[in-house]
Amino acid sequence: MDYKLTDTQRAWRDDLRAFFAREFTADMREQIERENSDYSEALYQALARAGYTGLSIPKEFGGLEHGYLDIALFDEEAMLAGVPHGVTSLFSGSVHFAAISLIRIGTADQRRRFLPGILEGRFKFTQGFTEPGCGSDLAAVQTFARDEGDEFVVSGQKIFNTAHLATHMIAVVRSDREAPKHKGISLLIIDLGSDGVTLHPTYTMRGWRRNIVTLDEVRVPRINLLGRLHRGWYDLMSVMDLERSGVRQPAERRAALKEILDYVRSTERDGRPLIAHPEVRSMIADLYRDLVVGALLSYRVVWMQETGQDATSYASYQKIFNSEAAERMANAAMEVVGPGALVLGRSQADRRWAPLGRLLTKLYQDCRIWQIAGGTSEIQRNIIAQRVLGLPRE
Ligand SMILES: Cc1cc2nc3c(=O)[nH]c(=O)nc-3n(C[C@H](O)[C@H](O)[C@H](O)COP(=O)(O)OP(=O)(O)OC[C@H]3O[C@@H](n4cnc5c(N)ncnc54)[C@H](O)[C@@H]3O)c2cc1C
Repeated sequence: MDYKLTDTQRAWRDDLRAFFAREFTADMREQIERENSDYSEALYQALARAGYTGLSIPKEFGGLEHGYLDIALFDEEAMLAGVPHGVTSLFSGSVHFAAISLIRIGTADQRRRFLPGILEGRFKFTQGFTEPGCGSDLAAVQTFARDEGDEFVVSGQKIFNTAHLATHMIAVVRSDREAPKHKGISLLIIDLGSDGVTLHPTYTMRGWRRNIVTLDEVRVPRINLLGRLHRGWYDLMSVMDLERSGVRQPAERRAALKEILDYVRSTERDGRPLIAHPEVRSMIADLYRDLVVGALLSYRVVWMQETGQDATSYASYQKIFNSEAAERMANAAMEVVGPGALVLGRSQADRRWAPLGRLLTKLYQDCRIWQIAGGTSEIQRNIIAQRVLGLPRE
């Protein structure tokens, strides 16, 4: 197996790099930094104008029809360019998840109603999975959809989503309370402007907004049932694959490592450049090893998907490895910077005391996120223990 890029793939990567250099402007970056925000609508619209919102959509529906590897290259370049999480989260929810779901399990009418809006950047989708009482055990969802013929009437709560930026939510709901839990679930496309939808903001420790969405007798037309009634669990499992490679995490660490390297190269301690200290060199070598191994695991997932293999086990390996590598990086960077790591780098003037500006704060506050979001590390370990090694459930 060889992960070298073809000429066409290299050209695609170069185009993407040029796009982000040109379109992710200094003004957008400044606004994100000033507002300590994780979103830029202007950048999302630039992505739509360039057609990238059609990345995975077949040409017959107006998309670019790129495969797994090209999509991975897109994700990688976005992270190397520093695209914030709100944009990547909405982009994934709309393009990697909603558009793919509409194509694989949606009706012709749904594709006609929703795909053009996704392509044009008018419709943005968030994932309505997690609830106050369930996340890891998603099949235990309690949000209930009462079947009233032409409509479902939905009540419940969804948390941790990006509904404040989205126009629609694909919600995992219970549609049959009598059936075994995996067999009474359906997927509904909910217009977030509907009566009965209210949003309450919550914030991550980094300051990213997420939401508690309360659904109170929300009327959802039956034509918004996505996939099969009561078989939503199985349909959901068939559309989640684009989320699994995790290529964004090593790419994000690669961008951070570049800044850390610049710092250790240009800073002296005890009359010697930091990079001349053996312990610093060894720390940098470990971080670089984590980058290479993490990227290889992610690319292995992409390659397995591209060649039609089941990548579940490798998806779990990469997720545990990459999310724990993020924590190792945060700890190592704090160690090497020393007391300055504890200073909040709020302005240029603070740079003297916080030499890496906000980078360390971001690394530290973000480093546990991927050990939770998208399936916790414990759940990944359960998958390895049970599905790969055949060990019994507890
Ligand atoms: C930044 C961020 C963004 C997110 N975005 C979204 C989004 O857009 N949409 C959405 O729906 N959700 C989103 N989530 C939610 C995320 O998917 C859940 O937090 C995650 O799946 C864990 O679910 P939970 O929070 O309910 O934790 P729980 O499932 O309650 O788990 C709590 C703890 O118990 C452990 N645990 C649970 N079950 C087991 C088990 N069987 N064996 C061993 N340990 C176990 C877990 O590993 C964890 O440590 C996001 C989360 C974060 C942090």
